[in-house]
Amino acid sequence: MKVVLENLTKIFPSRNKKSKEEVIAVNDFTIEIPDGKLIGLLGPSGCGKSTALNLLCGLQKPTRGKIFFGEDEVTKLPAENRGVGMVFQNYALYPHLTVLQNIIFPLQNLKGEEKMTKEVMCEKAMEVAKLVQIDELMERKPSELSGGQQQRVAIARALVKMPKILLMDEPLSNLDARLRLQTREEIRRIQRETKITTIFVTHDQEEAMSISDMIIVMKDGVIHQTGKPQEVYDDPKNLFVAKFLGTPPINVFQGSVKAEKLYIGEEAVLDVKGVSDREVYIGIRPEGFVLAENGPLVCKLDEVEVMGRDITVVSKHALCENVEIRSIISAENMAEVSGEDVHFTLKPKKVHIFDKVTEERIYF
Ligand code: ADP
Ligand code: MG
Repeated sequence: MKVVLENLTKIFPSRNKKSKEEVIAVNDFTIEIPDGKLIGLLGPSGCGKSTALNLLCGLQKPTRGKIFFGEDEVTKLPAENRGVGMVFQNYALYPHLTVLQNIIFPLQNLKGEEKMTKEVMCEKAMEVAKLVQIDELMERKPSELSGGQQQRVAIARALVKMPKILLMDEPLSNLDARLRLQTREEIRRIQRETKITTIFVTHDQEEAMSISDMIIVMKDGVIHQTGKPQEVYDDPKNLFVAKFLGTPPINVFQGSVKAEKLYIGEEAVLDVKGVSDREVYIGIRPEGFVLAENGPLVCKLDEVEVMGRDITVVSKHALCENVEIRSIISAENMAEVSGEDVHFTLKPKKVHIFDKVTEERIYF
């Protein structure tokens, strides 16, 4: 089911009695979330991700704006009538109930026509348990499960009513690195199999990029950019988005444009046709550097890390705000890298420039 948000806004009053400053946790979200996709809602801690999910599932009321599921407006509909499944970071399982009892819990409160016999409930629980691969663990208590297994139970519980929309709030944060990787692939598979429109919240850009059909990048309550992960990575609209996506991160230099040439210090590093003279930030992706004996960008060489297919050249430059510049070079093109300095030319498509004041992208 598609989800449409119109000017959705949530303002919290100040928590501090002395200051009148309110928090705009979700600021004027207007967006259409396509049916049947896995959407990564991505942004730094405190940017309003959980609030946005709480508005969607009905746990909180918006200050203004509207929410539609398909063609139906649900803004005022109580949470239990929205047909939304929710998975939280801390699993929130009932410790005294078995896995089976935890999964069927949401079915037990159904009334009227929806009421089910115990047998049907167990059948449905078994179905989703198989889907998330915990069907051998049905009689265990949560304390007898690993973190990854507990999170699968939570996912099964969210799925058992066959929700129209599945919301997951940082579901992998409590898992160790290996399980996090494995569980995110599981979530991807489960979403593909069920085709339930899923919104997956995380502050981890790599996590969001790796499993999402579409990402929504937000900061301070505001949506900064939406799109396919690769598109947003290749074509960031502003400096924040450019810096937030990518590992190793983009390398940001102070620079300027003079006579349609891009300068870092005294060196003209690239042609930038059609851009008027001004001060800029220059973001260079790690894969945007090319080793070249007479390349105009000269950095102080720190070390070379060899990783088989690629090498990473670690260097420094006085005008780069990153502590170290990491450039990833195909090992085949590896010339001798030694001595004090390393020289680069740049791949134009991997270089983005941003206005010094607005931090908006300047296209060339
Ligand atoms: P995230 O999930 O992205 O970390 P949240 O949605 O939890 O962010 O919070 C967004 C902002 O709203 C934060 O500044 C937070 O302090 C504030 N906030 C969240 N819930 C409340 C609340 N119940 N009352 C007041 N402020 C809140
Ligand atoms: Mg949160």
